[in-house]
Amino acid sequence: MKIKAIHIYQHDLPVKGKPYKFARTVLTAMDTTIVEIVTDSGLTGFGETCPLGPTYQPHHAAGARAALTEIAPHLIGENPLQINKMNLLMDELLAGHSYAKAAIDIALWDLAGKAHGVRTCDLLGGALRERIPSYYAIGIDTPDEVARIAKEKQKEGFFRLQIKVGGRTVEGDIETIRKVGEVMRPGIRLAADANRGWTMRDAMLVSQACRDVSLVIEQPCATYAETASLRGRVCHPIYLDEVADSLSAVVQAIGDQTADGFGFKTTRVGGLSAMRSIRDICHAHGLPHTCDDAWGGDIIAAACLHIGATVAPHLLEGVWIAAPYIEQHYDPENGIRLKDGWIELPTGLGLGITPDQTQWGSPVFSAG
Ligand SMILES: [Mg+2]
Repeated sequence: MKIKAIHIYQHDLPVKGKPYKFARTVLTAMDTTIVEIVTDSGLTGFGETCPLGPTYQPHHAAGARAALTEIAPHLIGENPLQINKMNLLMDELLAGHSYAKAAIDIALWDLAGKAHGVRTCDLLGGALRERIPSYYAIGIDTPDEVARIAKEKQKEGFFRLQIKVGGRTVEGDIETIRKVGEVMRPGIRLAADANRGWTMRDAMLVSQACRDVSLVIEQPCATYAETASLRGRVCHPIYLDEVADSLSAVVQAIGDQTADGFGFKTTRVGGLSAMRSIRDICHAHGLPHTCDDAWGGDIIAAACLHIGATVAPHLLEGVWIAAPYIEQHYDPENGIRLKDGWIELPTGLGLGITPDQTQWGSPVFSAG
């Protein structure tokens, strides 16, 4: 089998309800990039990458398309089933830009599933379950409102909640965590995610003031060095998210014993190939983690579910998907949907998503 053409599409995914606000960014739609790999066998594979605006990470949508435009012409004629070789080739063609290469990597895994007549999760080691737990992220709001939502979401069936903290007074964060702590049911897990918004002092003050609340602290500080310095100075386990941006960063954190778990974004680390290695390394060290992405449509959501399904259940902290916040499904029938805090793994070959490509219009770039 040979790659005959690669098409790159730009698409604006409409955000449901109110615009999504964070830091200085207000988004009414998510600028996503979809890759279609066409082969001489007639099979096609789809991948996607969708940075959360230009400021969440050093990723942006136009940058993803520029990187893909650089790489794609050189992949024509290659065998798409040799996924490791394709990833090596991409690294020879362009340094870095893992979040862009991830779209091609995901499309290769989709294609491989279709070519071998199995689901992508089967190629990644096999699904350990068909229903995957998700978790609910509650944005910054008043302590009472966050506690109200926390109560409601536990009733809906979520086994894990994440509350956003940081970007306001330490006292506001402490009050919010304590109020949420009062409504938490036994067995439901809680994460306080600062998204890099705390100083080391903030993290220590909040953790000490909430020492009796069972929770994990996610990505408290901006840098790896700051976060690593909290070891032994806070009362709660620390999970890394934004700074866990590659397989080597994960290996370093494990070696340094600075992480008790992780929040992973599949495209940030380079796609399903990288997530497969990360999953195994975390398993070997007994480290829990999520299998998420920043945002994106059905293709990214499906990719996160396929790898999430292969993670040992006691180590999977959930798969967060953007679907509840987005107006649209690429695949009207088999689009990924969240119900009562859980998501069904797609049953079709490859990623199991058959997109209605008319939604995307013409490609913005084609090679081959
Ligand atoms: Mg996070």
